[in-house]
Amino acid sequence: MTQLPLRAQLATALGRTAATLSRATGRGDGSVIGGRVSMLLEPDLLRQLARDRKLALVSATNGKTTTTRLITSALSELGEVATNAFGANMPAGHVSALSSAKHAPYGVLEVDEKYLPEVIDTTGAGVICLMNLSRDQMDRAGEIWLLAQKWRRALAGKNTHVIANADDPLVTWGASTAASVTWVSAGQPWKEDSWCCPECGGPLDRKGMEYVPPGSLGSGASSQAGENDWACRECTFRRPEPSWVLDDDAVIDPRGRRWVLDIQLPGRANRANAAIALATAEAFGLPVERALPRLREVRSVAGRYTTVERGGRHARLLLAKNPAGWLEAFDVLDSSLPVILSVNAQGPDGRDTSWLWDVDYRVLRGRPVFVTGERRLDLALRLDVADVPFQLAGSFEQALGAQPPGKVDVIANYTAFQQIRSEFGRAV
Ligand SMILES: [Zn+2]
Repeated sequence: MTQLPLRAQLATALGRTAATLSRATGRGDGSVIGGRVSMLLEPDLLRQLARDRKLALVSATNGKTTTTRLITSALSELGEVATNAFGANMPAGHVSALSSAKHAPYGVLEVDEKYLPEVIDTTGAGVICLMNLSRDQMDRAGEIWLLAQKWRRALAGKNTHVIANADDPLVTWGASTAASVTWVSAGQPWKEDSWCCPECGGPLDRKGMEYVPPGSLGSGASSQAGENDWACRECTFRRPEPSWVLDDDAVIDPRGRRWVLDIQLPGRANRANAAIALATAEAFGLPVERALPRLREVRSVAGRYTTVERGGRHARLLLAKNPAGWLEAFDVLDSSLPVILSVNAQGPDGRDTSWLWDVDYRVLRGRPVFVTGERRLDLALRLDVADVPFQLAGSFEQALGAQPPGKVDVIANYTAFQQIRSEFGRAV
């Protein structure tokens, strides 16, 4: 790789010093402050650090941290990989990630959905993974259709290869201005944000619903494309033919070979993330037989799916930040275990908890449910309306103490999750 200009070298050195100081004073991992300091000195630093590397950007509402980790693990087969492992997914975090692995020929960067157009422009990344878009942080985040529209503009006219989830209509629309796209059927359990065609506003028909295209009189109307098929009733916008397909516990590659995933991360959502990771690895020239064993090495991601223990109670931590994330977490729950739900509404969570009403909680009936967190009363009311019996607890500690010794599942939103991790010490 070519040497960085002197100013850029100085900027990265100062940024690393700031990050070290920040860590030493107990203010987090320091990657954001380090990146900010570097960019003050050299605003063009991200472009310079990205130059000469093979980069993948990963964006979505849910699963971007995990998928970034899976792709990083796969590409480590090829050489050193720079990555923002701690979820600092805006440009300062990207500067920090790339400057801490200056000679890595590869980079895998998680990117906040809103920052994606800017980061595409700045880094000129060759590969971009787009997985899902749904409602999130309702008081803060932009309208998701506008986000997808910005993605379209950012991708148009660039020499970029996109790996995209064909089962999500809004992602498909957002990706379809790219010069080349590998479509992956990765599923879409949460459909509440995509009943309308993003192209024309008409209704979207789904597989299993009666679909008759205009003028066809029904001939060939029912698609054979699988249970995730969709099409607009009023225009030509429809699901593209996927070349990779997530099929229950396996993925089918473009040559029709079926690979059982058996990864350590639990649940359908993680198998979807793995399917995207395998398609991305192949875009880097890494075949499935070499990438898949690397995906199996990933056990937990930034504390997700790890277990904390106190007094013989082993609590498995699941992070869920929005309605689609709660559906994914329900899919992972062990139906024989009690579950603790913890909801906060601090800045990183979004202060508006009205999304709690969008989630169908009836799946929780029949098991002991404990509710805690700052907004436990909001959640309690919602569960009451859904006829899900529950007990309130003043704190996570109390909720855990109310369990018999043994295993318990925990679903928490962002700051609730971080509080549990920090208060209960090292994950075991
Ligand atoms: Zn349409």
